[in-house]
Amino acid sequence: MKKTIRDFDLNNKKVLIRCDFNVPIKEGKIVDDNRIVESLETINYAINKNAKVILFSHLGKVKEEKDKESKSLKIVAERLSALLNKSVVFVPFTRGPELEAAIDKMDPKDVLLIENTRFEDLNGKKESKNDFELGQYWASLGDIFINDAFGTAHRSHASNVGIASNIPSGIGFLIEKELKELSILDQPNRPYVVILGGAKISDKIEVVSSLVKKADKILIGGGMAYTFLKSKGIEIGSSIVDLDSLEFARKILDDYSNKIVLSIDAKVTKEFSNNSNYKVVGINEMENDDNGLDIGPKTIELFKSELKTAKTIFWNGTLGYSEFSNYADGTKEILQFITSNDVNATVILGGGDTVAASKVFGYKDKVTYASTGGGATLEYISGKNLPGIDIINNK
Ligand code: AMP
Repeated sequence: MKKTIRDFDLNNKKVLIRCDFNVPIKEGKIVDDNRIVESLETINYAINKNAKVILFSHLGKVKEEKDKESKSLKIVAERLSALLNKSVVFVPFTRGPELEAAIDKMDPKDVLLIENTRFEDLNGKKESKNDFELGQYWASLGDIFINDAFGTAHRSHASNVGIASNIPSGIGFLIEKELKELSILDQPNRPYVVILGGAKISDKIEVVSSLVKKADKILIGGGMAYTFLKSKGIEIGSSIVDLDSLEFARKILDDYSNKIVLSIDAKVTKEFSNNSNYKVVGINEMENDDNGLDIGPKTIELFKSELKTAKTIFWNGTLGYSEFSNYADGTKEILQFITSNDVNATVILGGGDTVAASKVFGYKDKVTYASTGGGATLEYISGKNLPGIDIINNK
């Protein structure tokens, strides 16, 4: 059993908390603050226990100096302050005298947010490569470390593994909840049906090989389906594809043909836009300039027939480009179906985009559990170790 935040005396201690504030931002606005909201329980607990609360998070990827402007956590500090109903000191640095002075000035119950940990990636990928000195430095800023960033727990970074290697550590309430809820999938009631979609194919295709052993059926739609379809020699036009994973996809299809269900029709368009004309075509009828942006009605019916008797459903990745209203039907209809009385299953959603879609379409509160993790959730449920949790002290 991992130590949790409850196992420490936080009174007057500098408590470093790694949160997952990696929220989607469009045109300078937070589109969905779910991850900030999910962090509140741990932060409020530390405040109530009289800690000096020092928060870390990453936001997106920082590859070039110019990324810094759009990837600053300042906007998160403002939202967090509104949600906590108290001021949050934002320090626009990841290290140095200003940061140290700001921490020195803290009183118990104060909250401070440090700038995006991945700003350190500009300096030799120090955060993402878990640079020893950086982990040691960040750890030196506090007395206790609490990891509550489930979304990055599958990565060994300086802001999780690095800090935890240096000072007493525990997990926060969000990670505790994630582990408890996702453990349902260790021994799922059967039939256990997994729905996979989305765009990040290379991240997920390996996880498929593990899930395919555990699940009774895997329904593959969204952008992910096209790599599988192409591996079978089907014309997929300009649809999203991961050419490096074709061999892998072909092998999985060969080995598990009885378990994998692929989309059989698609809503296609010639331009990547919500305003261009679209039509529904059978999966063998796509033209070489067609872009498949949603599953078609026959696939929706096929997926429903597989989901009808499921007792456990896990879903990662939207079934179409659901940010465009014309291509949201597949995702919406399947969400509606699995949360209706027609299906009597435990439903777990994983992944930022999937959960965001369920919220936008009004189904988030109807599922059994909506995980905050994307890659971390997938790796955890496919049985891999999560270094950000493994490193935490045991009780
Ligand atoms: P992921 O992060 O891999 O779960 O991908 C989520 C993203 O995949 C969302 O932004 C979806 O709109 C996008 N997506 C789903 N289906 C498609 C598709 N057929 N073509 C392009 N993007 C898609």
